[in-house]
Amino acid sequence: MSVSTTSAAGPSPVVIIGAGPSGLLLARYLQLHHIPVKIYERDRCPTYRPQGGSLDLHDDTGLKALRETELLDIAQEYMRPEGEAQKVVDKDGKVLFDENVYGENGALVTHFEKTNGEIRGRPEIDRTDLRNILIASLEPDTIQWSHALKSCEALSSTLYQVNFHSQPSITTPYLVGADGTFSHVRPLLHPTKPDYSSVSMYDLNISSTTLSNQPKIQSYIGLGALELLGDGKAILAQMNSGGKAKVYVGLKVPERWQDEHPLPDEGKRREWLATMFDGWTDMAKEVIMASDEEGIMQRRIYQYDPELRWDTELTGVTVMGDAAHVMSPFAGEGVNQALADALELGQALVRVFTPPSRRVSLAPFPLSLFPISPPPPSTPRIVAPKPEALHSALRAFEKGMMRRASEEMRGSKENMDMFFGEEPAQALATFMENVMSPTFMVKMTLDASVKWMKRLWNN
Ligand SMILES: Cc1cc2nc3c(=O)[nH]c(=O)nc-3n(C[C@H](O)[C@H](O)[C@H](O)COP(=O)(O)OP(=O)(O)OC[C@H]3O[C@@H](n4cnc5c(N)ncnc54)[C@H](O)[C@@H]3O)c2cc1C
Repeated sequence: MSVSTTSAAGPSPVVIIGAGPSGLLLARYLQLHHIPVKIYERDRCPTYRPQGGSLDLHDDTGLKALRETELLDIAQEYMRPEGEAQKVVDKDGKVLFDENVYGENGALVTHFEKTNGEIRGRPEIDRTDLRNILIASLEPDTIQWSHALKSCEALSSTLYQVNFHSQPSITTPYLVGADGTFSHVRPLLHPTKPDYSSVSMYDLNISSTTLSNQPKIQSYIGLGALELLGDGKAILAQMNSGGKAKVYVGLKVPERWQDEHPLPDEGKRREWLATMFDGWTDMAKEVIMASDEEGIMQRRIYQYDPELRWDTELTGVTVMGDAAHVMSPFAGEGVNQALADALELGQALVRVFTPPSRRVSLAPFPLSLFPISPPPPSTPRIVAPKPEALHSALRAFEKGMMRRASEEMRGSKENMDMFFGEEPAQALATFMENVMSPTFMVKMTLDASVKWMKRLWNN
């Protein structure tokens, strides 16, 4: 199959590799603006593999991207504001920080509320729910499942051949790599690979039945997340929707440690993991032993140097999300940055694919810079962009993306060093208390204003 560069019906589709949060949100944004798009995804179907735990969405990135694609209302139905409650415990079981609220009988109560239909703070949403919402928002057949990208090559500076495992190759002038940490699109732009972060993890699940039968485990985790830290190890347990929980066991170990210490046969896995916490509070072993023996997964955490930048002579290709700037998950920023990338890339593409006179506003004037009235129905709304315009739009997008993401990459690394460093529980508890203090709030507001002004200035 070949996607031609132009056709009588208009420009050829933007080709996105990867149906993760960034690829899906970009496709949604482009379809809202009548730009044809196809996603090629490795998985066989939406339910092919578990999508992981809970994500917290931030106002100026993740929530903004959902708002701008008219998906915030539906996403709010799945958000759990109470999931923000954090609890920090040291290896001896001492609770150093706890945002849960307890009733007179010691039962957990939530003080997080929806206000005026808007969610406050940084609400949690299950990754599966977010992905399903995004998939359902797309036109039928936008996603081509079972298309695992093998390699990409530049046929010229404006045309790319995309080769799949077990599927015919395609060519496209517009290629976006949203294919995660080990992107196969990225080598077109630069050869740098992400570094191992020094942390490897195991993912475990606690069923809703176990949690309702074992109130002690629920009380350990609280309504949001438990961070049990010490000795270069971490147990991070977080509530997910439907009363179930996800448990991440993190270890500061060399990159090949998991290969050299493979998980034992099923039936012995939880016990094997639990022995790593000998000498810790019983809470550690109890949380691991309450998890399911089946479905334990292992993963290594990778990250890019925040100073990473690139330039290219190629015109219609770019990357976003983890493919561009993977960071460790310890600041909860990865998905937020990925969604912000998709929104900003979508805006950049709409500008080059849509002549100003034909732009349609999605937001009422004056919120949008676009004119409010739609063009006459007979006028094609989009045109193939001029190569120079596309080239400068994509390079400007990449510069802005990396400038924004690099601050969060630094923060994620600092947090990871704190989680696995000296006196981690005390350090995290102090950090959390500072974050909650009014002085810090004022500083954050000032920092956010400075960031906003810098971005405005740089653009
Ligand atoms: C353990 C863990 C916990 C995390 N917790 C948080 C958190 O709390 N908050 C937060 O903000 N972020 C968190 N993150 C990070 C977050 O999940 C990512 O930053 C985010 O998912 C990036 O989105 P993406 O669309 O760029 O890539 P991905 O989500 O990685 O999606 C990439 C897509 O591309 C597909 N793909 C990959 N290779 C190919 C190929 N060769 N061909 C075709 N398709 C391909 C994949 O199947 C996938 O669908 C966490 C990450 C980890 C590992």
